[in-house]
Amino acid sequence: MNFTLHVTADCNLACRYCYEKHTPERMDERTALAACDLMFSYGHKQNGFSFFGGEPLLCRELIEKVLAYCSELNESRGGRLAYRMTTNGILLDEAFAALANRCDLEIALSHDGLLQDDQRVRKDGSGTMAALEPKIDLLLRYQPGAIAMLTVLPENVGRLADSVKWLYDRGFSKINAVIDLRPDAAWDDDSMALLDAEYLKIVDLSAVCYDLPRPLKFLNFESKIAAHIENRGCIECRLGYKQPSIAPDGNIYPCNQFLNLAEYRIGDVFSGIDKAAQKRVYDMSTPTEASCTGCAIEKRCRHHCACLNFSMTGDMHTVPPVQCLHEQSVIKNADLLAKRLYEEKSPRFMRAYSAKSN
Ligand code: SF4
Ligand code: SF4
Ligand code: SF4
Repeated sequence: MNFTLHVTADCNLACRYCYEKHTPERMDERTALAACDLMFSYGHKQNGFSFFGGEPLLCRELIEKVLAYCSELNESRGGRLAYRMTTNGILLDEAFAALANRCDLEIALSHDGLLQDDQRVRKDGSGTMAALEPKIDLLLRYQPGAIAMLTVLPENVGRLADSVKWLYDRGFSKINAVIDLRPDAAWDDDSMALLDAEYLKIVDLSAVCYDLPRPLKFLNFESKIAAHIENRGCIECRLGYKQPSIAPDGNIYPCNQFLNLAEYRIGDVFSGIDKAAQKRVYDMSTPTEASCTGCAIEKRCRHHCACLNFSMTGDMHTVPPVQCLHEQSVIKNADLLAKRLYEEKSPRFMRAYSAKSN
């Protein structure tokens, strides 16, 4: 069983696009350990948390206690434990990186490449690029396959490909771009066209690097290519079942964007998940988005993310137009990359996919 553990909404940075309402609230130890007990109560063989913030490393001691307690609980069970965390990296140090490796905790670093100093700033407005330099070296030394997550704003979209290149040159092989999908993000036809052009540059960069000893894996494309060749849908949402979110006060919600909304609460860590509430929320999420019926890329598109739709439109089934355009652009460019690698008989691509596509 997997849960997202929102250990705090607090943060030590003030990134220009942050949508989090930073409050000093932190999850206490009793709540966190009850979350561990709840997770193991399902009897699954694979368990784990995604530690989420704000900045999760502000609650580092709590995370360490959770890791120790879960290892203890798992000893007699012998299942697999795996964790994830996305951090801004400022508080990352050698001791935590070593612990993460021992505990199978995958760390992703939020970093905006060339735009780091403009977008990811401290509360006094100062940039964080220099402070992150030694942290990048540290993270990649412990986790060479760590993911860099960069956020793309409409006003800076023209620097996306250069930022991806910067992150690759800096040592990251896996890079994921997240476009700014706050309701007030000023995407328009021009910035969407520019985004499409930047993705095309990343197709070129990915193709050039694909067979190098250290390839560039631009995950936005990789996930679409893999899902298409393996003939499976984009992702399965299973809202409220797949990865429920636990708030700092211990209440449980179906996913991140529903946190602290009383009408979507499905339980708490002390009394467990209310199965009727969980099913009610899941049933609300299952109908297909009416506007997507018959679309040629319906199966490949992320239109069914209830979180994203809800956060931008207030409705689980209304896909924001910018998301529709974005999915079309990602899928088109992912296909261009796959076609090129196939035609060039890229050894790495052929090895990865030839058996699966037969
Ligand atoms: S590090 Fe994350 S939570 Fe903190 S301000 Fe930046 S985007 Fe927000
Ligand atoms: S591309 Fe647009 S219409 Fe097609 S499935 Fe995605 S969101 Fe729906
Ligand atoms: S709502 Fe979105 S993020 Fe949450 S489980 Fe569904 S697809 Fe994933």
